[in-house]
Amino acid sequence: MSTTTGPQHAGLSPETTVVSAGRPERTADSAVNPPIVLTSTFLGTRATREGDRVYGRYSNPTWDPFEEALGTLENSELPALVYSSGLAAVIAAMSLLPTGGTLVMPRHTYQGSLVLAAGEAQNGRINIRTVDIANTEEVVAALDGAGMLWIESPTNPMLEVADIRALADAAHAAGALVVADNTFSTPLVTRPLDLGADVVVHSVTKYLSGHSDVVLGAAVTSDPELRAQLLTYRSLHGAVGGPFEVWLALRGLRTLALRVERSMATAMELALRLQDHPGVEAVRYPGLPGDPGHLRAAEQMDGFGSIVCIEVAGGADAADAVTEKVGIWLPATSLGGVESLIERRRRQPAEPVSVPENLLRLSVGIENVEDLWRDLDEALPR
Ligand SMILES: *Cc1c(COP(=O)(O)O)cnc(C)c1O
Repeated sequence: MSTTTGPQHAGLSPETTVVSAGRPERTADSAVNPPIVLTSTFLGTRATREGDRVYGRYSNPTWDPFEEALGTLENSELPALVYSSGLAAVIAAMSLLPTGGTLVMPRHTYQGSLVLAAGEAQNGRINIRTVDIANTEEVVAALDGAGMLWIESPTNPMLEVADIRALADAAHAAGALVVADNTFSTPLVTRPLDLGADVVVHSVTKYLSGHSDVVLGAAVTSDPELRAQLLTYRSLHGAVGGPFEVWLALRGLRTLALRVERSMATAMELALRLQDHPGVEAVRYPGLPGDPGHLRAAEQMDGFGSIVCIEVAGGADAADAVTEKVGIWLPATSLGGVESLIERRRRQPAEPVSVPENLLRLSVGIENVEDLWRDLDEALPR
């Protein structure tokens, strides 16, 4: 490896790691940033050995610094694995469940993960049991005979908070692997491996890259055997990240701590004000003392994330009207970028019907809080 993360970064705070991990070696006149290496193949004449790069579907030097940084942030001894999208990482993780196995997953998982798992079930490869992931007793009861527990916390878009440690313990007792989608939290806010998860997956598209300019994913594990399986899946299924995209993701990661700090503070302030807005029937945000997930989130997370969901008075049409009236908030799907986004989730046909029709998901960016508030306040019904 040509980068210097490794043990040097153990024990550093995440705000430092996001900046200093994955830098090139300190030699005179070397660049401070790793280069983008554009190549599909690597020179070699003899029989290949482990660690040889060989070919661009197996390995690229541009991936290494990002993978080292993300592995360190998730408190893994091993580098992360970058994939061409979050969903590519999701299907790689799901492939760890053997054919015929049972997957227990949250009813309100990211819709792409739900649709993907449903397809696998329809093809007869796996069985699915969906649960309320915030209801630990219900999940534990569903784990009987299961091979994998899928956790998302907070869930997209209902923001339910799972008791990750209790669920991971119960899953392991039942002989199930535990995968946590940590996209909403980022490793700065929740570290599922520390709480017992076996694998963490990310949509790097969101907070980690942070500028809504790349589509990428990642998986992280501390288990060398699981990592080898995830790597083989990536190499053979071909869901590899382009070097330029991965380089952009590392560039975005450098400011992750600042972005998350600012957007979480703004999310908290907006959630408090939205509670008192006459055009808002309900606010979901784990940071609110009255939120069902608040105590658990306060215990398990370093902060409450930057996604706030509101239910708009007047139903789906009134909610759509808000997304048409706002001028700073951008009406678009996705989340985790510097710019604030707003979306009525049920406009997407695949969204579970248990998500209210009038629910707007707000991905809070890093703009000025008063500007964001005024824009929203003026667009909401009253
Ligand atoms: C966006 C998202 C994904 C999928 O990631 P892509 O990069 O869009 O493929 C998975 N999980 C969650 C929680 C997401 O928000």
